[in-house]
Amino acid sequence: MTQFNEDAMLREVQLAHYCSHPIRVTGDMVRRETGEVVRRTLKLACRDRRKVVCPACSYLYQGDAWILTALGIRGGQEIDPAVSVHPRLFATLTAPSFGPVHNLQCLQTASRRNVGSDLCQHGHPVRCFVKHVDNDPLLGSPICADCFDYQGAVLWNAHVSRLWDRTMIQLRRAVAAQGHTTSRQLRDVARINYLKVAEFQKRGLVHIHVVLRADGPEHSHTPPPSWLDENVLATCLDNVVRNVYVNTPDDRRITWGQQLTIDDLGSSAKDPVKVARYIAKYSTKTTDGSLELARRFKSRLQIERLASGDHLRQLALTTWDLGGDAQFETLNLRFHAQVLGYSGQLMTKSRGYSTTFTALRSKRAAFTEPNNEFLTLGGFTYGGRGYNDPWSSELAEMLHTMHQQQRVERAQRRWKGHVADPEVPVESDIQGSVSSSEPHREMLVAPQSPVIPGDVSTHE
Ligand SMILES: [Zn+2]
Ligand SMILES: [Zn+2]
Ligand SMILES: [Zn+2]
Repeated sequence: MTQFNEDAMLREVQLAHYCSHPIRVTGDMVRRETGEVVRRTLKLACRDRRKVVCPACSYLYQGDAWILTALGIRGGQEIDPAVSVHPRLFATLTAPSFGPVHNLQCLQTASRRNVGSDLCQHGHPVRCFVKHVDNDPLLGSPICADCFDYQGAVLWNAHVSRLWDRTMIQLRRAVAAQGHTTSRQLRDVARINYLKVAEFQKRGLVHIHVVLRADGPEHSHTPPPSWLDENVLATCLDNVVRNVYVNTPDDRRITWGQQLTIDDLGSSAKDPVKVARYIAKYSTKTTDGSLELARRFKSRLQIERLASGDHLRQLALTTWDLGGDAQFETLNLRFHAQVLGYSGQLMTKSRGYSTTFTALRSKRAAFTEPNNEFLTLGGFTYGGRGYNDPWSSELAEMLHTMHQQQRVERAQRRWKGHVADPEVPVESDIQGSVSSSEPHREMLVAPQSPVIPGDVSTHE
């Protein structure tokens, strides 16, 4: 029978910051007090951003995403607080339609158009007369699967990152034209910074939520020229989004969808804190929030056995099949079948927008692990993933949940009646200094946690 050593187990889980699947590395370290060289195997937090893969690391990632977004909107740390008066927009860019899908407005739309008796070429009704509820599994799936353009949808996901890059190039060009200059010369007077996050809709297509900010030549530290205000930025963005396109290898034109929302973050209508929360929320999601679509597929059979619903399975199968077509070779589609063709990072930003995840992590490490018993000596070798026993992973997740609950209760007491959202850290984090990030501090108190130089992250 297996012997439990609860203390050792608890200590190991604490050292790995309650990570569910830590990375094992082995290397030589020096004991500070005695100078003795010891060979040690450490378990480092995996830093996976996805909540279904590692709740504890995902929680930290979400907190960092929140801080990173908020710093760019309100300033703090090395971002000048003057950004709070720079022109700032929050926009949502959508995908076009690839066929009618079930949504919350099914009944409304069908009644308005009065086309109940019409059938598509496959003999199915073209409209749906059901009043769907929020968690209806039908939501997002096509009204007629044969009418839905699966190939078009996958190729759109596969090109949306390129479409975004082209959008930014043309946006800078359009803004420059407003200032009677070229986009190259624009850099001498203004910068357009952004942070964006991709969100998978129920229909399996990507939406882009983006914070855009106009700065002067030194980014947050200088104001943009007076002619570059919110209206100019919004008008340029609107024009560009409606006209920009990229072509697929089979000459399809990839454009944004008709739905475009642009909000001015400087007006009282849109709460910047809510925007940061919104972006942080999507930064830790997988395609459909399930573990099934969180990992790469090794075979078509694996996709055929998916329980994620007919529509998402068909999108993943289409991605896999297109991946075998020589003309799409450069898109590396089979590698991205679990994200239905999408090949970009979930969250990206321009360099001048805010600080970086790496900077936030190292500040946190310096704050939580000031007195290490050991110093590192040279490099470490990778030794696999996970704990030595299956119970530690469960213990880690349970402790993480407990800490989260305690944090929420403390936050609720602190804010007297303001109910804190357990999904993201409380608002005090926006002060921008790690020492004010109390949720992180409380969670990360891990005695003698080793600090390993270099980034051993396996995600991003
Ligand atoms: Zn982890
Ligand atoms: Zn419907
Ligand atoms: Zn049809």
